Amino acid sequence: MRRKESLHKIEYIIEYTDLPAGSHLFEFSVDNAFMQQYHSDPLENNFNIQAEITLTKHNHSLQAVVKLKGTISVICDKCLVPYVYPIETESHLLIERGNPENSSDEILIIEENDNKINFSQYIYESISLALPYRIVPCEVFDNIECDQEVLKKIKEDLSDKNKSSIFAELLKNKFQQ
Ligand SMILES: [Zn+2]
Repeated sequence: MRRKESLHKIEYIIEYTDLPAGSHLFEFSVDNAFMQQYHSDPLENNFNIQAEITLTKHNHSLQAVVKLKGTISVICDKCLVPYVYPIETESHLLIERGNPENSSDEILIIEENDNKINFSQYIYESISLALPYRIVPCEVFDNIECDQEVLKKIKEDLSDKNKSSIFAELLKNKFQQ
């Protein structure tokens, strides 16, 4: 596994053509610098994820098992309480040659004459999908409660027009504390 880092570009690439038949394990960490590449705004979440890719090469087939394990620091969408969200996923991928645009959840397609596999997009999407669209730990877990003060403030000050600016303000204060 090569973590290639040139100007604003971190990619996870495995050069597989010279690998002997059998299984090969590649490990690396995924952090904010990687995830940030896909976002124009600064990330609010803090990513700390270990990735393990087991690449199995047979005569005519190539398969990968991608395991992602770690945490994402998030804040409650409702009241901004900080929360560490654990993620653990495992997915199985077939690697085939053809048109990369036809890749799916289960098949990663690389160019006909490519000697390397770029897992960057796949990893980014897997992590994004592992994170729920709406994060409200206070509703999901008994031991976490919404920050009532923040909720009160949002309720008092809120008209739909300035909702996002109030939220941004609260968020800013929260991180400065
Ligand atoms: Zn909450």
